[in-house]
Amino acid sequence: MNHVRGTQRLAALGIVLAGLSLVACSGGNKTAEPAASPNLGKANVDGARIENADSEPGSWMSHGRTYSEQRYSPLAKINKDNVGQLGLAWFADLDTNRGQEATPIVVDGVIYVSTAWSKVKAFEAKTGKPLWSFDPQVPGQFAVKACCDVVNRGVAVWKGKVFVGTIDGRLIALDSATGNKLWDVVTVDQTKPYTITGAPRVIKGKVLIGNGGAELGVRGYITAYDPDTGKQAWRFYTVPGNPKDGPDNAASDAAFTKVAGSTWFGEYWKMGGGGTVWDSMAYDPGLDLLYIGVGNGSPWNRKLRSEGKGDNLFLSSIVALRPDTGEYVWHYQSTNGESWDHTATQQIIIADLMIDGQKRHVVMQAPKNGFFYVIDAATGQLISAKNFTDITWATHVDLKTGRPVLTKEARYEETGKPFLSKQNPNGAHTWHSMSFSPQTNLVYLPIHGTPFVYGQPKDFGLRPMTQNVGADFSGNAAIDPKRALDETFGRLIAWDPVNQKEVWRVERAGQANGGALSTAGGLVFQGTGSGTFTAMDAASGKELWSTGTQTGVIAAPATYEIDGEQYVAIMAGTGSSWALIGGDTNMKGFEQRNLSRLLVYKVGGSVQLPPVPEKVVLPMNPPPATAAANVVGKGGDLYGAYCANCHGPVAIQLGILPDLRRSVMLQSAESWQSVVIGGARQQNGMASFASVMTGDDAEAIRAFVIMRAHQDAPAANAAATAAK
Ligand code: CA
Repeated sequence: MNHVRGTQRLAALGIVLAGLSLVACSGGNKTAEPAASPNLGKANVDGARIENADSEPGSWMSHGRTYSEQRYSPLAKINKDNVGQLGLAWFADLDTNRGQEATPIVVDGVIYVSTAWSKVKAFEAKTGKPLWSFDPQVPGQFAVKACCDVVNRGVAVWKGKVFVGTIDGRLIALDSATGNKLWDVVTVDQTKPYTITGAPRVIKGKVLIGNGGAELGVRGYITAYDPDTGKQAWRFYTVPGNPKDGPDNAASDAAFTKVAGSTWFGEYWKMGGGGTVWDSMAYDPGLDLLYIGVGNGSPWNRKLRSEGKGDNLFLSSIVALRPDTGEYVWHYQSTNGESWDHTATQQIIIADLMIDGQKRHVVMQAPKNGFFYVIDAATGQLISAKNFTDITWATHVDLKTGRPVLTKEARYEETGKPFLSKQNPNGAHTWHSMSFSPQTNLVYLPIHGTPFVYGQPKDFGLRPMTQNVGADFSGNAAIDPKRALDETFGRLIAWDPVNQKEVWRVERAGQANGGALSTAGGLVFQGTGSGTFTAMDAASGKELWSTGTQTGVIAAPATYEIDGEQYVAIMAGTGSSWALIGGDTNMKGFEQRNLSRLLVYKVGGSVQLPPVPEKVVLPMNPPPATAAANVVGKGGDLYGAYCANCHGPVAIQLGILPDLRRSVMLQSAESWQSVVIGGARQQNGMASFASVMTGDDAEAIRAFVIMRAHQDAPAANAAATAAK
């Protein structure tokens, strides 16, 4: 998944320090003020209903609304003329202050959302009345396996059931009317660092779910289950296993024999190989093809993974499968032999485009590597590819071979020299959803960039309980802070996929912005990391409406209609990789905090959010620094290896997790040990590290943090006093 490890953002941190009338859902009941619809909570969704989603545009029945995942709504009651009168219809506070990434599902009068920690909640979609809530009781210590926060991107509904994947690797079926658990199946080896953050899809009577974990060391796959029983139907591995173990007896066996197996070298299986299917899926009923997006290598570095050779299929690829059996049909690999965390798990959209006077049925993707791809949906043949932002790893895609042409600097693992990319490992675009409007024929794409240096590490070995990407980030400390600031951006662009060119752009204050929704009202909606929810003219990008959300937004909106009124729903609450390790370094003064809510708007809505609660910031008051320099040094190394990914580089936390320099736990060795070794904060997501470090190690880390707190306390406390 997307992530930025701890010690690499020093240059960027320097900046921050310096700046210190369809009644779709009521079964035809059109009475003026109906009581709860008789269908309320039935979620009687099947394939025919999703395939005909345009005939009931008031609902949002699948993750991207339709199987084509366009995230375009035919609703037009909210339009350019009245969007300025949009106001809050209702909101719901969520019981977690971690990142919110889910797209709501709305059907039969109920809105279903998943929240951080894989919880699920159902509300009456018209009023916000809470209907039920489900907590899968994920053991908190599983958070250490999540590269990018304990997030969840949504649920699926099918024939009276709601499905959710959990951060500890389970797929759970709930009764859509009551939230009662019907079944629960473990989809991963829970001894390995697998997580699930993606939304399931249900296609042709099978629930599909993938997983994440390729930064820590796993082998990726997608599995299909029977929605009634949870029985496994098929599994497709995206990378081969150890040949000595023989075939997997899985749907992918034939594809490894025919296509993928010969593209791997060395002992790639030792770290799993990667290729996790952690987000995108789409389905074309006409072609009967399921498309999945496949992630990066494990480790990233091809030299360490595959002796520096081979394309390493199906890493960084779109793979087309038969949904009934998982049988391989075709693949398109956007980054051959990936070494940069170039996942191709980004959203896949199916659409019809007029190209050179011909109607072409295509899939489109804007993966992390910065190219926008238009591919024939039936064959996987590349039609066109163009970079949608400045990139330094490749000059272009050769349309004859379909392969990127790399710059001579890009393969840091081969040159041994640091490679300066214009994107960090979050890529040029990651999971934040894009939207295609058939009205404008434009794709609305949230993108970002920041300079980042990849280097070949001096040594490498698998370390449990932390990331193992096989790239050295120390070169980032040398990036000029002004340059880092100048080149760090977030942006929404409108991309013309036919002519492969940008049509308009809107700059954002930070990198971590939300997904897009386009509508027949001629609008594009997007939430921003700087705490607003906005509507733009889809043709020009002109802002037509904006409202404060009190917290950063990273999720994508959904829209629905009930009793003749159109609503727009968005999950608010920042999180994910940026917020974990040290904030978004280009936020221009916006305070990173998380006030997780579901926000629902309509024309004339007049509900007000409560005042923003005062933020309690503990003083920086460390105990005396008494440890020897060598102990502090060892603590710094351990901190960088195990702590920085969540608590921030050099113990500076500007995101949503505790700043250890200010922690009361810092005051005594006993309380520190109770957390780091004893696991006293496990339920909050802080695992015990007893399996990888001793009490002395933990005490060395405390000594390092104490030293860092003494360094920073005078300025931090003076700033706090001045603010009063
Ligand atoms: Ca990744």
